[in-house]
Amino acid sequence: MLDKPSRDEDEYFAREDVEKKRKLAYQQSEVMAEQQKEALRTLHYMKCPKCGFDLQTLKRGDVDLDMCFNCKGLWVDAGELATFERQLREAPEKRGTVMSALLRIFKND
Ligand SMILES: [Zn+2]
Repeated sequence: MLDKPSRDEDEYFAREDVEKKRKLAYQQSEVMAEQQKEALRTLHYMKCPKCGFDLQTLKRGDVDLDMCFNCKGLWVDAGELATFERQLREAPEKRGTVMSALLRIFKND
C-alpha cells in the first residue's frame, strides 16, 4: 500500500505555500516602498518645494536656514523654529534684532 498524503495534508501544504507567497509579496512591497522613499529623498533633497531650485543653507547664530534664491522661499524645520523660539524667550529684548536679521536675508540677496 502506498503512503498517499491525506487530503488534510494536501490542504495544509497548500495553505502554507500561500502563506509563504503572501509573506514574500509583503516583503517585496516593503522593499519597493523603501526604495521609492529613498529615490524621492535623493530627488528632492535640498530642493525648493515651491520651484525646485537648489536650497542654500544660511547660518544665523545657532540656526541653519534653507533659502531658495530663485523664489526667495525660506525653509526651517521644527528644530530650527524651536531654537528661534528659545532665543526669543531667553532674550526678549533681542526680538527686534532677530526679526531684523531674518528680514535682512531677503534684502541682501
Ligand atoms: Zn524656490
